[in-house]
Amino acid sequence: MDWDDFPGWGAKISDWAAEYHRTLRDRPVRAQTQPGDIAAQLPDAPPEGPEGMQAILDDFERIVMPGMTHWQHPRFFAYFPANAAPPSMLAEMLVSTLAAQCMLWQTSPAATEMETRMLDWLRQAIGLPERFAGVIQDSASSATLAAVLTMRERALDWQGNAEGLSGMPRLRVYASAEVHSSVDRAIWVAGIGQENLVRVPVAGPLRGMDAAALEAAIAADIAAGHRPAGVVACTGGTGTGACDDLQEVIAVAKRHGLYVHVDAAWAGAAMICPEFRTLWTGVEGADSVVFNPHKWLGAQFDCSAHFVAEPDALVRTLAIQPEYLKTHGHDGLINYSEWSVPLGRRFRALKLWFLIRSYGLEGLRTRLRNHVAWSRALADRLRADPAFEIVTEPVLSLFTFRLAGQDDATQLAFVNRVNDDGRIYLTQTKVDGRMVVRFQVGQFDATEDDVRVAGDVIRELGAA
Ligand SMILES: *Cc1c(COP(=O)(O)O)cnc(C)c1O
Repeated sequence: MDWDDFPGWGAKISDWAAEYHRTLRDRPVRAQTQPGDIAAQLPDAPPEGPEGMQAILDDFERIVMPGMTHWQHPRFFAYFPANAAPPSMLAEMLVSTLAAQCMLWQTSPAATEMETRMLDWLRQAIGLPERFAGVIQDSASSATLAAVLTMRERALDWQGNAEGLSGMPRLRVYASAEVHSSVDRAIWVAGIGQENLVRVPVAGPLRGMDAAALEAAIAADIAAGHRPAGVVACTGGTGTGACDDLQEVIAVAKRHGLYVHVDAAWAGAAMICPEFRTLWTGVEGADSVVFNPHKWLGAQFDCSAHFVAEPDALVRTLAIQPEYLKTHGHDGLINYSEWSVPLGRRFRALKLWFLIRSYGLEGLRTRLRNHVAWSRALADRLRADPAFEIVTEPVLSLFTFRLAGQDDATQLAFVNRVNDDGRIYLTQTKVDGRMVVRFQVGQFDATEDDVRVAGDVIRELGAA
C-alpha cells in the first residue's frame, strides 16, 4: 500500500470503529457461529498476487464479524471486562505507527521514561507505598511467572538459573484453590512442579486462605526437609472474587522469610477508589503485586502493571546481558527487558498516559463505582425473587447465583439459553463443587439500564 492511500483507509476504519461502537447493542454479544464456520470460508492456500484493500475489508465484514464475540458490548457480563477506552485505542494507533521495540532505554528513551512515570502514577492511584517500583508486563500470567521465578531464585540463593533444579532442595509454594490457573502454569514453567504448589484451605465469606492452615503447612514442609519459597495470594479471585486476608497471610510468610506475590489482576483497578482498599488491607507488606489496567481500567489489552518492592531481586532473576544488548556508557538507566521474560516490548505506557489524562482518576472512579453499585442492586433484585439464590455475595462488581433448587445441568442449560438468546452474555463457575452462574459488570459503556436489561433477561429465561 502506498502512503498516499493510507489516510483514506485509515479514515474509513475510524468511521467503521465509531459506528461499530454506536450500534453494538444491536448485535448478539456472544458469537452465534458453529465450530469450523469461519475456517470454511478462508481459502486453503495464500494468494500469489496482491488483492485490493476494499476486497479485504469486505471479507472482514462478511467472514470475520459474524465470528466475533463482542468484548466491548455494554451487555458483556461474562468473565471479566477487557475495556478498550477510545483514548487508549488512539494511543495504540500511534504505537502501531511508531512500531518501536522498547526493550532498552536506548531503543526508545521516551517509552522507558514514560513507563516509569505511568507506573508511578498508577502506584499512587491504587495507594501503594512509594518504595514499590513498577513495570508493564504483557499479562498478569507473565507477571506471576516473573514473581514465581524470583521466589525460586531467592530461595535457592540465586543458583537455580545457573545450576538447574536437580539436586536442589524441594521448593514449596503456597496458594489457595481460588487463585487463577496462571499460578499453576507459573509453577510448572518455573520447574517447581504442580505437586509442590500447596493448596491452603479457605475460610470465611471472602474465601481467603486460612492463616493457621498456612502456618501449619509451612511448618510441616520444613519438618519434612523441604524449602518453602513463597506465597501467591489473591485479591479478587477469578471465580467469585475471593480475597485473602493479606495482613494475616503476609505476617505468616514474613515469619518464615517467604516472598509474597499478590494477584489482583481484576480487582486491583478498583483500588483507585479508597473505599475498596479494605479488600487488600496489608498489601504494603507484599513483595510483588500485579493488576491489569487492561481489564477494568480501560487500557486496552495488553497492559499488566507489576509492582515490586525490591526491583533488584527481579532483575537479578531475569537480567541477561549478551554483548549486543549492552548499552555502554548508560549504566544506571532502566532497561525494562531485564524486568520481564520476553526481550521485545511494545510501547505500552502511551495508552496509560492518554487514558489517565483523558478521564482523570475521578472519571475512572465514577465508572467503577457505578459498576459496583449496579451489580449490588441486581444481586438484591435476584435475592428478592424466589426463583434464584445468591451463592456468593458481590465482591466489587462480581457475584454468583443459582436457579433455586435446580441441579447443575439445569444451571448450565440456563447459561446456554441466555447466551444463545444474545441480549446479554454470562458465564458459569463452580463454588464448593456446585455449578453457579457468574455475573460481573465492568464494560465502560454499560449503563444502569443495561444492567436492568440483564436482570429482565435473567428472570425471563430463568422462568422458562
Ligand atoms: C484475568 C486474570 C488473570 C490472567 O490475566 P492475564 O493478563 O490474561 O494473564 C490472572 N489472575 C486473575 C485473578 C485474573 O482475573
